[in-house]
Amino acid sequence: MAEDWYEEGLAHIWLPYAQMKTMRPPLAVAGTEGTRIRLADGRELVDGIASWWTAAHGYNHPHIRAAVAAQLGRMPHVMLGGLVHEQALRLASRLARLAPGDLSRVFFSESGSVSVEVAMKIAVQYWINRGARGRTRFATFRGNYHGDTFACMSVCDPDEGMHGHFAGALPVQLVLDLPQTDEDERRLAATLAAHAQELAAVIHEPLVQGAIGMRMHGAHVLARIARAAKAAGLLLICDEIFTGFGRTGTFFASEAAGIVPDIMTLSKALTGGTLPLAATIAREEIFAAFLDEDPSRALMHGPTYTGNALACAAANASLDLFEDGAWEERVRAVEAHLRAALEPMRGLDNVADVRVRGAIGAVELREAGDREALKARFIERGVWLRPIGKVVYTTPAFTIDEESLSRLTDAMREAAVSRR
Ligand SMILES: *Cc1c(COP(=O)(O)O)cnc(C)c1O
Repeated sequence: MAEDWYEEGLAHIWLPYAQMKTMRPPLAVAGTEGTRIRLADGRELVDGIASWWTAAHGYNHPHIRAAVAAQLGRMPHVMLGGLVHEQALRLASRLARLAPGDLSRVFFSESGSVSVEVAMKIAVQYWINRGARGRTRFATFRGNYHGDTFACMSVCDPDEGMHGHFAGALPVQLVLDLPQTDEDERRLAATLAAHAQELAAVIHEPLVQGAIGMRMHGAHVLARIARAAKAAGLLLICDEIFTGFGRTGTFFASEAAGIVPDIMTLSKALTGGTLPLAATIAREEIFAAFLDEDPSRALMHGPTYTGNALACAAANASLDLFEDGAWEERVRAVEAHLRAALEPMRGLDNVADVRVRGAIGAVELREAGDREALKARFIERGVWLRPIGKVVYTTPAFTIDEESLSRLTDAMREAAVSRR
């Protein structure tokens, strides 16, 4: 690598999710455009991940870029303590309009994990404000991922998630199986009812459990969870950080099941992959429980960069791009392509499962072989794919063209066929 910043900086940066002793050197990126990642050495990769599924419109979209540039000229940031500005307020009202049902109060933070922390905090304080004591625990489902901070870790899958080391440092939550049948739903409702007095909420990653490896369940499963939570008098938090903004085929996953969660979290594609921003959205009834003459009933949370004007401008521009509705047809086209290309792989010896929903395609292998070698082979082939365990998946930009998508699915097939 010719760049002088590379070797020097690599000796000091601590990279995410990486065993830095054995990892292959990370690729230096010089730029991005559309669905391409341009490397510092001149190679170009077709991006199958859209930077952890954030860049739904493709990289460097001119409309988002122009909106951020214009906002940068006016005001990059101002504290929301006692002050407000157009971008944050516009974004709040637009998200309230788009969100299901009466989800209508929007709290901004800077990362998905923090938006989940805020959701959990709102749920606990909701019960305190209503005079109910001891309702501080959460119910979650196997396979869920909700982020990497401490409260979030406690509601992630305790066995297969990546936070096993911290078991002793985390509150113990109620971890349940997804209700696949009517009988499961009755059992779930009974379990929740039995624990209701100690629970603040049920938290769930609806339809697609992304980070664990793109596990999918039907809308009827989500509807069962919502019914069981309601029957037990519990709040329901839907973490739509991964599924929000069209990824699963409806604008929000909750819509597919016709449910309205009490609290919803959003991030990832919120700014179209440009700036960090997250939102926690609560139903009007939840918000109302914080309104009181008593100042201690207020929500005492306030990230320094909450409602950052640049990030909100990017999110408003991203919502402009969703507004014409073209995303829906694009996601359907990506889904059709992924089905046609990946479903036939079910017959292969090394394929345990194929899963497609919206603009998400996953092939679960029986044997992944040497994962570092597999990643290297993807790069040789000119595609950017990063398997999760034995799951090779793609979550491309909705705007990806047929030929680029074929390059991704061809590489996924090759990974399943050749074992090395
Ligand atoms: C990515 C993700 C998070 C955490 O978001 P960060 O911005 O990484 O903190 C939480 N929940 C889900 C479902 C996610 O996909």
